[in-house]
Amino acid sequence: MARLGVGEWAAIPHLVHGFLSRDTRPYHPEGHDWSSELEAHDATGLAVVVARQVHGTRVESVSGPPAARPEADGLLTSARGVAVGVVTADCVPVLLVARRHRVAAAVHSGWRGTLGGIVGEAVAAVRGTGIAAGELEAAIGPAIGGCCYQIGPEVRVAFEERYGRAFVGDAFRDAAPRPYLDLRPIVRRQLEDAGLRPQAIRTVGPCTKCDAAYASVRRDGPRAGRQLSFIGWR
Ligand SMILES: [Zn+2]
Repeated sequence: MARLGVGEWAAIPHLVHGFLSRDTRPYHPEGHDWSSELEAHDATGLAVVVARQVHGTRVESVSGPPAARPEADGLLTSARGVAVGVVTADCVPVLLVARRHRVAAAVHSGWRGTLGGIVGEAVAAVRGTGIAAGELEAAIGPAIGGCCYQIGPEVRVAFEERYGRAFVGDAFRDAAPRPYLDLRPIVRRQLEDAGLRPQAIRTVGPCTKCDAAYASVRRDGPRAGRQLSFIGWR
């Protein structure tokens, strides 16, 4: 199983992070065991917290394995021994870090979360701890691309109504019968809008439907596996 990440982040003390490729085992939404994947990727012993993802915009802070998994699509932590993770199979995983402040976050941004602006909510949650947005770095991970992601015209209308055509226009490509959407450029723009420096935002990895190393619901249907993206502190 492959692991992608940001090379420069390897120099951040205690930080461990990665965008893993697909777990080929059947996915168990009520409590998938990621320990073997984490062991294979240098994260042994880390408690990884994965929320119940609901395609919303709620961001929760965690300091250890919670008694009940929070219902959220973004998780934030600054605790040693804890990582936060998101599980995807076409949606956009985003990892955030404020290296001088030892705060990290993982965000699940599908089209609904992107429409709702979840990365902006995650940046706001970090700012709520007293950290300026300009201190944050972001990595936008493997997700379905504009090559493959056909959506209903109502999705395009919803984005244009909320953000304006200038903001989202080039993320859509006209096609019959339905347009294509590339979510990652919108997520990047939202992060810039929230105050991140453009050079602090990286896009990592391929289109999940094009590359068989990744789970893709659009390619494999409901039986597609999932991939884990995580970030935390040893
Ligand atoms: Zn593709």
